[in-house]
Amino acid sequence: MLSAPLPDNEEERLEALYGLNILDTIEEQAYDDLTFLSAQICGAPIALISLIDRNRQCIKSHHGFDITVMSRELGLCPYAILDDELTIIEDASKDERFHDNPLVTGEPHIKFYAGAPLIFSAGVRIGALCIIDTVARTISPDQQKALEALARQVVSQLEQRQAVHDLNISNKHRSDVLTKLKNSEARERARSRTLEKLAKGCLLSEVLESIVYSVEDELEESPCSILLLDDEKKHLLLGAAPNLPTFYNDAIHNMETGPMSGSCGTAAHTGQRVIVEDIQNDPYWEPFKALASKAGLAACWSEPIHSSEGELLGTFAIYHTTPQAPDDAGISVIEHASKLAAIAIQRKREEQVLRTAKHLAENASKAKSQFLSSMSHELRTPLNAIIGFGQLLKIKGSNISSEEAQGYIKEIMSAGYHLLDLINEVLDLSRIEAGHLNLQIESIPLNPVLTECLAQINAGLADQLDITLANHIDDPNLAIMADSQRIRQVLTNLLSNAVKYNNKGGSVAIKTELVGEDRLRIVITDTGIGIATADIDRLFDPFERLSSSYGNIQGTGIGLTVTKTLVEAMSGNIGVNSIVDQGSSFWVELPSAKTENQVVVG
Ligand code: ADP
Repeated sequence: MLSAPLPDNEEERLEALYGLNILDTIEEQAYDDLTFLSAQICGAPIALISLIDRNRQCIKSHHGFDITVMSRELGLCPYAILDDELTIIEDASKDERFHDNPLVTGEPHIKFYAGAPLIFSAGVRIGALCIIDTVARTISPDQQKALEALARQVVSQLEQRQAVHDLNISNKHRSDVLTKLKNSEARERARSRTLEKLAKGCLLSEVLESIVYSVEDELEESPCSILLLDDEKKHLLLGAAPNLPTFYNDAIHNMETGPMSGSCGTAAHTGQRVIVEDIQNDPYWEPFKALASKAGLAACWSEPIHSSEGELLGTFAIYHTTPQAPDDAGISVIEHASKLAAIAIQRKREEQVLRTAKHLAENASKAKSQFLSSMSHELRTPLNAIIGFGQLLKIKGSNISSEEAQGYIKEIMSAGYHLLDLINEVLDLSRIEAGHLNLQIESIPLNPVLTECLAQINAGLADQLDITLANHIDDPNLAIMADSQRIRQVLTNLLSNAVKYNNKGGSVAIKTELVGEDRLRIVITDTGIGIATADIDRLFDPFERLSSSYGNIQGTGIGLTVTKTLVEAMSGNIGVNSIVDQGSSFWVELPSAKTENQVVVG
């Protein structure tokens, strides 16, 4: 048996064959008709369309012999593709090339063979249309021409098939391009709409809702949601999900993020995209399966929303009513929507920061002006006293009794000390504001410090107003961690306020409470004028004097600001409970001292 040599242009030929995408395709009526006609016209029992692959022959159509593939070595058709002419073998059993070929010696017992090459283009022959008989014979010239004509029909079928295939591909390409174009237009529109809403100052919820609507328009029947991470970065809050059922949104609002918290909770926990193709069979959704099923949701793809600095802001999710995975287009939709949501959230946050900063700046400037006017008033009063009594001394000269002169000098000295206090407080505040606060935190026994402060207050205003000061701390071992000078300043200020804003004959009481294991609360309670609940928030703001600025009680409104800053610098807290006309309880909470260790804070 001799195998046919390879054509000179074998690679070019194979390339043309592969380009037809015809190998290993199912049987088709058009080709079967042509093998049937070939057999009929030539009066042969068998007709085949054989496509010659590199090592095999694929039988695209067979009539009279049931075969779909055979080795290239065995076939007679590989001889038929060597030139453009018809190959005729009248008796294969007598031909030295085929006499021992298994197709000749066995099934289908080929004797006669006539093969017309399938000429695809000049010299490119991809296979043959052949007829086979089991007896030695020949065919007439007309039958030969008919076989060649039918071979041309096979080629034309193949070309048509190829053209349809190419057309389908180009149609598919066109429709892909059109879809992409449509999607990109839709996204551009969504982007402009979002920016327009931001520019118009719409609420964040409205802007997010418009992003959700635009994605839902693009995808059809896929409700979407935007969830926002709370300030603690632990829970997801509903941002916008207008087309998810209310009961579902209510259940999801404020959900905790975590490793098994549905698509969004898990995406917010890991900061990575989470694609859940089938909710009912996904461990991430274990706690929410019943909820999802009630809402008719079967798949959920969630994309984390990151700010331009990489901070996690929330999640954007697309839901589906049937299990499914996203293709590239689906991924691109969620990526785009999450970027758009990030722009909106960030822009709104920046607006909020600007608004707060503006508000603070306005308040600070208002407070500073108030401070200046209150300061000039406060400075003028003692200065007037100093100048007034000085002038009296001058005018009266030697006509003044020494008792009267001593009285004037006392007034001048008191006004001078008041001025000094005022200036010291302002300097203190400016030093703290500039960050120049050096604290030496150490264990301070509480009782001795309080006794000292009380003695100071008692000797002054308390005496004049007949106010009783009582220290109810009976444990002599109580100690706190604080700066020795600054804790005195804090307690003196609170005690002097408790006296200043008290009623004549009132009282001030001091006691302590343990807070947890390692903090001590010092509570100073007075029976004075009290503070309205609405005023308590601004109490510690600089230069706030509340209603007292309208009365005769002297002060600058700086004392409590300085006090709060000092307490916090010593790792403490300060607060107040008060009832108007009944009195106030100011408390300071500081770390209690357990050892004598000294800690230095600069
Ligand atoms: P100043 O006493 O110099 O005005 P502070 O900063 O010490 O400044 O106090 C701010 C304001 O808080 C006071 O002007 C007063 O209106 C109110 N306040 C402070 N302590 C008390 C208190 N014990 N009872 C009622 N009001 C108080």
